[in-house]
Amino acid sequence: MEKKHLDLRLAQMTAEGTRFRAGVNIGVDITWDDLRARYDAVVVATGALVPRDLPVPGRDLPGVHFAMEYLVQQNRTGAGDAVDSQITAEGKHVVVLGGGDTGADCIGTAHRQLAASVTNLAIGRQPGTERPEHQPWPMNATLFEVSSAHEEGGTREYLASTIEFLSNEAGEVRAIRVAETEYLDGRRVPKAGTEREIPADLVLLALGFTGPESTELTSQLHVPLDGRSNVVRDGNYQTSHEGVFVAGDAGRGQSLIVWAIAEGRAAAAAVDRFLEGETQLPAPVKPTDHAFAI
Ligand SMILES: Cc1cc2nc3c(=O)[nH]c(=O)nc-3n(C[C@H](O)[C@H](O)[C@H](O)COP(=O)(O)OP(=O)(O)OC[C@H]3O[C@@H](n4cnc5c(N)ncnc54)[C@H](O)[C@@H]3O)c2cc1C
Repeated sequence: MEKKHLDLRLAQMTAEGTRFRAGVNIGVDITWDDLRARYDAVVVATGALVPRDLPVPGRDLPGVHFAMEYLVQQNRTGAGDAVDSQITAEGKHVVVLGGGDTGADCIGTAHRQLAASVTNLAIGRQPGTERPEHQPWPMNATLFEVSSAHEEGGTREYLASTIEFLSNEAGEVRAIRVAETEYLDGRRVPKAGTEREIPADLVLLALGFTGPESTELTSQLHVPLDGRSNVVRDGNYQTSHEGVFVAGDAGRGQSLIVWAIAEGRAAAAAVDRFLEGETQLPAPVKPTDHAFAI
């Protein structure tokens, strides 16, 4: 999204009375306990940005990064901030692991940084272009998506299982060894005899997210987490602590913008009711609502 749209909304909310304080790490700069003591209600909306790793040989080689290390840094430099040792795709063979929205953002960014090549690998099968019979409307169908980032170029390969990252003489990543994915008893494994190398000077891991960053949330706020590491909340978005609410990915797990917006509005209604005893605000979704599925 172009930043001018964000600037417009931020200006509107500031004029309405919202105070924004950027660069404050809650749990470090201010403890969660201090925050609770200072305000009658607190909404935890810290997202679910703990990345899924790929513990294969060579994972620690220079040049192998989580997607968010790369994307956040590019956002900062794009906004004019100085950063230490920028990760750049310029002139490099880039391999992006993971075929979702985060992977697409990496593909688009690498092209704009003038990468020599961009290859996107996904471990699973290529989805079809037609809605599958077992996912009729209005279900969210698994389809082959072509986003604006994909239209900018690059190669997409499916059924690619990563075996290891290989280094050059300087000890940096130079290639990735992959094999064709084979399905064995429902498990995805590299098929023996199909191994090959793909040149890679920069590898970006976009393999999904496992939940919210929870160290300070559990050690300071003492909120319980569910089996997926998301913060537990009741039907009113409230945690086990009165006046502490959770909205968005921190409670739902990594999801979509539309859910975060709807949850933000519903949590605002819950906070208003908590503070005022009643509310006129709309609550478009419940914490337990999900996309339609059979
Ligand atoms: C790379 C990427 C691409 C995506 N692409 C799409 C897409 O194309 N379409 C779509 O619908 N969804 C997409 N999503 C998902 C979507 O962005 C999220 O579902 C949505 O942003 C969740 O909103 P949220 O407010 O819950 O959390 P977030 O938007 O993640 O916001 C959480 C905020 O809390 C801040 N924070 C975290 N911890 C602390 C702390 N301790 N102190 C202070 N601040 C803190 C973070 O810095 C962040 O600014 C994408 C997600 C990612 C990561």
